[in-house]
Amino acid sequence: MELRAICGDTLFIVAVTGAVSAEVHAALFDAGIDDLLSEESPQHLLRCLLRARRHLTLLHAQERKLDALQDKLDAWQDGLDHLPTPIYIKDVAGRYIGCNTAFSQFVGTERHHVIGQTLADFLPHDTAEAHRESDLDVMRSGGVIRVETDVCVPDTGMRHVMLHKACIAAPDGGLRGIAGVLIDITERKELEARLTAAAERDPLTNAFNRRKFFQVAASAVERISQGETRFAVAVIDIDHFKVINDQLGHGEGDVTLCSIVDTLRAYEDDGVLVARAGGEEFFAFFSGENAVQAEQLLERMRADIARYCQVVTEIGTAGTISIGLADFDPMQESIDQALRRADLALYRAKRDGRNRLCKAP
Ligand code: GH3
Ligand code: MG
Ligand code: MG
Repeated sequence: MELRAICGDTLFIVAVTGAVSAEVHAALFDAGIDDLLSEESPQHLLRCLLRARRHLTLLHAQERKLDALQDKLDAWQDGLDHLPTPIYIKDVAGRYIGCNTAFSQFVGTERHHVIGQTLADFLPHDTAEAHRESDLDVMRSGGVIRVETDVCVPDTGMRHVMLHKACIAAPDGGLRGIAGVLIDITERKELEARLTAAAERDPLTNAFNRRKFFQVAASAVERISQGETRFAVAVIDIDHFKVINDQLGHGEGDVTLCSIVDTLRAYEDDGVLVARAGGEEFFAFFSGENAVQAEQLLERMRADIARYCQVVTEIGTAGTISIGLADFDPMQESIDQALRRADLALYRAKRDGRNRLCKAP
């Protein structure tokens, strides 16, 4: 053993001895020799050399195999390192056994600092525990899971990622661990949010549009079975808006329109849905307790707008709002019919002097 330790694995060691006992034989092989030459006849020497050559040939073949395997491994690692997507492999205990450069950059360190570590070395305790739980779930179920999560990436900031985790089964039926890929979907999410906003909001004022109004109203009405039975709708129209455009210009009209919308939208926090129906006209939808309080809420909106948004023109004040309000019972009428009644009430509010609320009978 000592001899082998001194000479290393690549030497073929032959002990040349005279006739020795079986114990000495054993001791020499124990010391790490590969062969024994006890008789110095040419035949013995030849046989010994042939055994040595065969041994070295086998050794070189093994070395070539190992080199080829290492080349393959390097090629895989190189390939993975060229991908911008963070990829990792963990063993069943949650220790990283491999990762690519994108992953080590993702966790803010170098690969050799990642290998052998666990998530607890990079993340706060609770987050690491939650990930460990989901790893264990994947290993128990044996499949693939996809999780969307927000992560803070060094030098880049907050990113939204889709994490794919797959359980790695071993050929003997056991488990090797988990393979994971983190796909950055921040841009896709932002695009989705922009598309959703474009589909449901008016671009000038950023108020919800008619489409969104009818969608929300319809889904609220569907909740009737869950006990939500009180609804109300309102039609809101800006007073003398044409005069603002005519006297101050269309640009100033837009500014007034936007500030009126901002004032109305402050009530979205209370659960009131306000949508731009078109031009300078808006619909509002109230449900549950808000429907009971609709008149008071709308009076507050009207007073806020009279205070903050009205414009003095040559014909008097403009930029206030008139409101028609109607209770809405989906069991008795359609939302269009309720809006029609609210519109008639609005007409009365206009006729009675504007900047006021009228309720439909
Ligand atoms: P009333 O008090 O009777 O409602 O009078 P009004 O002037 O508000 O009503 P009218 O229907 O006569 O005029 C509405 C005006 O709103 C006409 C239209 O040009 C203007 N308007 C509609 N949409 C916009 C917009 O997006 N921007 C601007 N600046 N004006 C708009
Ligand atoms: Mg108007
Ligand atoms: Mg109008």
